[in-house]
Amino acid sequence: MRQKIVAGNWKMNLDLAEGKELLLSIIDGQINEGTTAIVIPPFIHLNSFKQMLSHTKIALGAQNCHQQDSGAFTGEVSAAMLKSVGVEYVVLGHSERREYFMEDSLSLSFKVTKVIEKGLRPIYCCGETLAQRQEGEHFEIIRAQVKNGLFHLNEMELLNCVVAYEPVWAIGTGETASPAQAQEIHTFIRKTIATEYGDMVAENISILYGGSVKPNNAEELFNCPDIDGGLVGGAAIDANSFIAICNSF
Ligand code: PEP
Repeated sequence: MRQKIVAGNWKMNLDLAEGKELLLSIIDGQINEGTTAIVIPPFIHLNSFKQMLSHTKIALGAQNCHQQDSGAFTGEVSAAMLKSVGVEYVVLGHSERREYFMEDSLSLSFKVTKVIEKGLRPIYCCGETLAQRQEGEHFEIIRAQVKNGLFHLNEMELLNCVVAYEPVWAIGTGETASPAQAQEIHTFIRKTIATEYGDMVAENISILYGGSVKPNNAEELFNCPDIDGGLVGGAAIDANSFIAICNSF
């Protein structure tokens, strides 16, 4: 069953006091029943946020994790640790991780496996750069990212994943893909999945759009038949904007 999801990626923003203030405002807002709202703060806030969210329907996500269970990996956090503090979703392959931390789809496939093994749900990001789009390479790039990161999974495992299409040129730039551009790629991702796994899986997986989603463009994007919600950066650290986007279906 496709879910309507709005996931707010706070990135490396807000200290604990600021984060708690924002979270309380989000909790106090009215988010429509049908939307799964996910708050994705920095690791260090996860434990106390879980307690704050305990009587709400808002889910908690992490921005990354390591592919090993434990060991000598200084500075890393495992999926098992995330699970132990009540995290349900893990963003994997965000373009900032791919660009600044040299993550690629193959190495991400190991993280995807580990996250699923621990009973968490990956939010797997894909998307092309401006140069790749201008060269007309975007379909191939996205197909490769989806295939190399996810296609080692079985059907049930894939259905546990959420895919996020985030054109790199639209992230944090104020530049949004038009609803038609986004819909085109979401259809393409669904077709890519259908070719490998069949229509049932392709029709039931949730595919989010990310890239300068704001209250004034969310409704038009979310009205597209293959867009099941948004992965939101900048607008996720403003309670009113985040709540308005959550209620844009
Ligand atoms: C993101 O970080 O995933 C994102 C889409 O950021 P923004 O909404 O700010 O473009």
